[in-house]
Amino acid sequence: MGMARPAGDPVAIVTGGGRGIGQAIGRALAADGFRVALVDLNGQAAEAAAQELRANGAVDALAYQADVREYARAQEVVADLLARFGRVDALVNNAGIASPKPFTELTEADWDLIVGVHLKGSFNWSHAVAPSMLAAGWGRIVCISSMNAKHGGAFPALSKTAYAAAKAGMLGLIRGLARDLAPAVTANAICPGLIETELSAAMWEGEKGAAVVAAIPAGRLGRPGDIADAAAFLISERASYITGEALDVNGGVYID
Ligand code: NDP
Repeated sequence: MGMARPAGDPVAIVTGGGRGIGQAIGRALAADGFRVALVDLNGQAAEAAAQELRANGAVDALAYQADVREYARAQEVVADLLARFGRVDALVNNAGIASPKPFTELTEADWDLIVGVHLKGSFNWSHAVAPSMLAAGWGRIVCISSMNAKHGGAFPALSKTAYAAAKAGMLGLIRGLARDLAPAVTANAICPGLIETELSAAMWEGEKGAAVVAAIPAGRLGRPGDIADAAAFLISERASYITGEALDVNGGVYID
């Protein structure tokens, strides 16, 4: 927190970086001078997104196929980055999946998948990057949680029980990390509202779109870039005294 980031080109990992919010975060961090490692279940999407970053002048951009639920794969990717660059400065736990199912229809497998991707995935990757961040004396961990962590999931009444629980778990995770990894590493979360991506399309596509937008004080859906700007800020030197925070980026649709 009180320290400066080590000199040289910093390295950031973005999970779920192949499309949507994660892709936008990759673009924002590349623009801020980071070498960006995009990790995605869809390796081709990650490679295409990395190519775009390189074509647009990123210092470097790499793609890794990975399921964030696999602990060993996180260790492997981080070891590869440390071998290449000697550092991992920032991690964004962004990979996610939607889960529109009423609670009574939710299966044990659904629960394990949703909690596995969001919460266990965030643990896996945070655990993989923490030692080198502590050794470097500088690091940033950002978890992309959700407004649903706080209100259970509203926008037309799709049940989000497992998703809300997993996203709330990510808020507990960053609060614990903020204490455990201080003062070298800050750990924060972003709670997006409704952001226009493939994941949320069922909530705003078609006729219901106008009513959904009418409920948002900002008068529009969120854009991936809105979340990317917040993530880039939390990762920047400007946010060095912010840790353990859950930042709402929702156009005013939910204020607590
Ligand atoms: P997208 O579906 O557009 O992108 C999610 C990315 O994560 C996809 O590339 C997906 O890969 C990847 N992914 C899914 N599961 C895994 C996994 N097990 N391992 C690695 N990668 C995986 O979603 P968004 O960009 O909208 O969402 C990004 C994050 O933001 C998520 O955590 C989501 O919960 C959160 N969020 C989104 C909101 C919204 O309104 N869009 C609101 C609040 C939070 P693949 O293409 O193979 O599925």
